[in-house]
Amino acid sequence: MDCLFCKIAAGEIPSTKVYEDDTVYAFNDIDPQAPVHILIIPKEHISSAAQIDEKNSAVVAHIFEVAASLAKEKGLEEGFRIVTNCGESAGQSVHHLHFHLMGGRNFAWPAG
Ligand code: 5GP
Ligand code: ZN
Repeated sequence: MDCLFCKIAAGEIPSTKVYEDDTVYAFNDIDPQAPVHILIIPKEHISSAAQIDEKNSAVVAHIFEVAASLAKEKGLEEGFRIVTNCGESAGQSVHHLHFHLMGGRNFAWPAG
């Protein structure tokens, strides 16, 4: 499949890995919007949050466990943000489910 993040998870396109296990891959965003900006993805191709269902949601729960652990590891005890953009109006640019884990600065709310 011609999917950028499938290729990154498979190691076919280089990335700066910060975590990997059987089902999840995490790497630094190429265009960081915060001092810590990690993308956490399922290795399985899921197009977006709109495609999460009872058959594939276990990996999403696991992604949040990984996020909490990485936040600790990166020293984000003051706070962090986890975001997934879903669909055109939200600005999703890569159509493989990914969670942005961002921290190390203050964030406005609501997000633009
Ligand atoms: P989205 O806009 O879909 O929510 O997020 C896609 C993210 O992927 C963006 O923050 C963008 O900087 C990042 N990105 C796009 N292409 C690459 C790439 O080739 N490598 C890495 N590490 N990040 C990428
Ligand atoms: Zn994919």
